[in-house]
Amino acid sequence: MIVVVGGGAAGFFAAINAKEKNPTRKVIILEKTASLLTKVKISGGGRCNVTHGCFDPKHLITHYPRGNKELLSPFYQFQPQDIIKWLEDRHVVVKEESDGRIFPKTDSSQEIINCFLQEANKLGIDIRTCQKIEKITQTKNFTIQLEKECLSAEKLILATGSSKDGFSLAASLGGHTIIPPIPSIFTFNAPESPLKPLSGIDIIAKVSIAETPFVQTAPLLLTHFGFSGPAILRLSSWAARVLYEKQYQFTIVIDWLPNLPINLVDYFIDIKKKLPQKTLQQLNIGKLPKNLWKHLTKNFKEPLLHLSKDRLKIFERQLRCDCYAINGKTPHKEEFVTCGGVALKEVCFATMESKLCKNLYFAGEILDIDGITGGFNFQNAWTTGFIAGCCAAR
Ligand SMILES: Cc1cc2nc3c(=O)[nH]c(=O)nc-3n(C[C@H](O)[C@H](O)[C@H](O)COP(=O)(O)OP(=O)(O)OC[C@H]3O[C@@H](n4cnc5c(N)ncnc54)[C@H](O)[C@@H]3O)c2cc1C
Repeated sequence: MIVVVGGGAAGFFAAINAKEKNPTRKVIILEKTASLLTKVKISGGGRCNVTHGCFDPKHLITHYPRGNKELLSPFYQFQPQDIIKWLEDRHVVVKEESDGRIFPKTDSSQEIINCFLQEANKLGIDIRTCQKIEKITQTKNFTIQLEKECLSAEKLILATGSSKDGFSLAASLGGHTIIPPIPSIFTFNAPESPLKPLSGIDIIAKVSIAETPFVQTAPLLLTHFGFSGPAILRLSSWAARVLYEKQYQFTIVIDWLPNLPINLVDYFIDIKKKLPQKTLQQLNIGKLPKNLWKHLTKNFKEPLLHLSKDRLKIFERQLRCDCYAINGKTPHKEEFVTCGGVALKEVCFATMESKLCKNLYFAGEILDIDGITGGFNFQNAWTTGFIAGCCAAR
């Protein structure tokens, strides 16, 4: 018998693949709550961003701040194209958005849930909700002590996501190291930001975190609480540990004109010669949103004629290195994830079997793997779930 602990994305995909590979083996999913696939339901704002349109494993791994090296060979076994085909074979048609995110064509996460439930039922997987695991021990087989009964399994797959009791189970079996779990994928709060009145502005900017190597050039969204958009969400993933250590108090530096790699001082001195009466406010060179440009030029209202080279240097610095204090974070409601989990060096990525505890497999977010926003976290669940399920079924 194979027991899968956790009725989320990774647990379901592992169980389905185990049963498909070896229909004679009994497969049970034990879920502690009353509902199944809860995160799938709320994912992507209810639309479920199932994966990303990135089909080269070498490129795909660059979207994982943690787990990138380890995922390379698993992605050669099962990658976004495979989950797309798997879904389409089961009549779930997907669509790719302009930024590469892939959703069911119906924009409904329920379609993915229905597909998994139908598949699991068709295969005869025994799904049990409201299961409280008291403890699991291993002699030859695993003994799973539940409230009212005891199960014996030859193979065990832990797919408990970022739950504390899942980490405790992993630590209790073979003494796995748990890398401390902390949040990843969040937006930055800037309660004192003078940009708050400009909320809603969405532009490409280069954003870096002061005193760190972390930098992203991508869409930046100004919000009523601070900063969001892909540039910020990606920074929050790549710098998750550093920002946690700083207790989410740090400075971001914005280059408002990353696509204009010119010396702005020389550029304005040149214009000054031709159009000395013009003001900077009238010379929106990067075609930034009007209100933003007005804000950035508010201390430079005089005609170019009266702007010294030193003042222009200050203006250039403001456009290229504009600093804002961040104080706190907000979860990104469309997707967030935990960084940390079972240490990757203790897992064999050809099989997803533990190196410390024979016949124990891991899948999904329980591992110290996380991707940036965009469907990469589910892809980790599908890939590791696929391999764990197939290998446990052997
Ligand atoms: C709001 C939100 C939106 C998201 N949107 C996206 C998205 O659009 N695209 C994307 O790629 N990623 C998204 N993610 C991330 C993605 O949901 C997770 O990475 C993914 O669900 C991980 O799958 P998992 O099966 O490993 O863990 P989970 O989905 O967390 O499933 C774990 C399951 O195990 C159960 N469990 C825990 N402990 C025990 C125990 N002791 N016994 C029995 N059962 C237990 C839990 O109740 C849960 O059902 C989102 C996350 C959130 C929170």
